[in-house]
Amino acid sequence: MRRAEEKLAKLPWDPAASRLLNTARKAGSATQRVMWLQRTASAWAKPLQEVAACRKGCDHCCHIPLTISKVEAEVIGKATGRSPQTPTTAVRLADLDHDTAAWQKAEAELQAAAPDTPCPFLVNHACSIYESRPLACRVLINLDDDELLCRKVDGVDVPVPYADAMVLKAHYVALQPAGVLADIRHFFPAEVAP
Ligand code: SF4
Repeated sequence: MRRAEEKLAKLPWDPAASRLLNTARKAGSATQRVMWLQRTASAWAKPLQEVAACRKGCDHCCHIPLTISKVEAEVIGKATGRSPQTPTTAVRLADLDHDTAAWQKAEAELQAAAPDTPCPFLVNHACSIYESRPLACRVLINLDDDELLCRKVDGVDVPVPYADAMVLKAHYVALQPAGVLADIRHFFPAEVAP
């Protein structure tokens, strides 16, 4: 973690990310705010990629729970032509009332309820919705020197030195106050063969 923090300290916020964040704050609808925030996250992540373990073709993080918002599910739905379903397990941001402990509890509940399957948009080890991928995918950056700690070990919770994206996550909550969150697999359940 210390090494990850040292790497992060050498990479201050990109001015482009700050400009995009301002645009996200001022946008008129929740959908526009979330989409600008996604662009902010990508600009924030760009310089980190030089020092991160994340590489094309590595898909460990596409096998773990992934919380997205209804707005993000609708953006994905538009891009793919696949309508999001009403999730069986969901959390309303309005119920969390900006309480960090409540947020962490809700996040843990959503993760526990997530089906143990890969993300439905993972195809041949690559993201098939890259341009529309949710914010959580854009900010999950392993600052270690290799992907060893990202490897999934059943029954073991291995800590990964992810980049600290708290500022972006706080905006994610604040910019869609009526948002509904669920795992991506609950918005887009596996299609049952006829
Ligand atoms: S949306 Fe794309 S990047 Fe995110 S978990 Fe799914 S396949 Fe991976």
